[in-house]
Amino acid sequence: MTVKEIPLERTFIAIKPDGVQRGLVGEIIRRFETKGFTLVGLKLLIPSQELAEKHYAVHKERPFFYSLVSFITSGPIVAMVWEGDGVVESARKIIGATNPLNAEPGTIRGDFGINIGRNIIHGSDALETAQNEISLWFSDAELANWEPTIKPWLVE
Ligand code: ADP
Repeated sequence: MTVKEIPLERTFIAIKPDGVQRGLVGEIIRRFETKGFTLVGLKLLIPSQELAEKHYAVHKERPFFYSLVSFITSGPIVAMVWEGDGVVESARKIIGATNPLNAEPGTIRGDFGINIGRNIIHGSDALETAQNEISLWFSDAELANWEPTIKPWLVE
């Protein structure tokens, strides 16, 4: 297998309704772009109840499940797939801790949030979760396989 054929790592990122309402879409996309990751999927949608419940199924016994699902379905979100070496873990670092009050300054949640129920953005927490979430939110036809011409200046 040549280097070009090695499948690149991908992660699922969603700007939640609070991030969209607060006009943070451009700022958030900029952070992933300037880091050097590649955007391969992007859409704005109001998630259905069914989609939101599937996405957060792991939390269905938690006390905040109902409010979480009702918040996520309350307005448009920006769903994205980002690609690049180590993107799953790196995106989690760019996003910051779940509770914005514990998130480091310089992270998205650390810079823009104060409340765990309004923490602006979602990012897959592991490679396997990322693969499941990408296939839940996007069809293959909605994902672009492309390589930025700047790539040789980002990765040796
Ligand atoms: P993360 O989004 O950082 O991966 P989790 O998977 O633990 O965090 O939780 C999913 C989402 O559920 C969080 O982003 C947050 O919006 C919400 N959430 C988590 N814990 C709480 C809580 N104790 N109270 C209210 N909402 C919560």
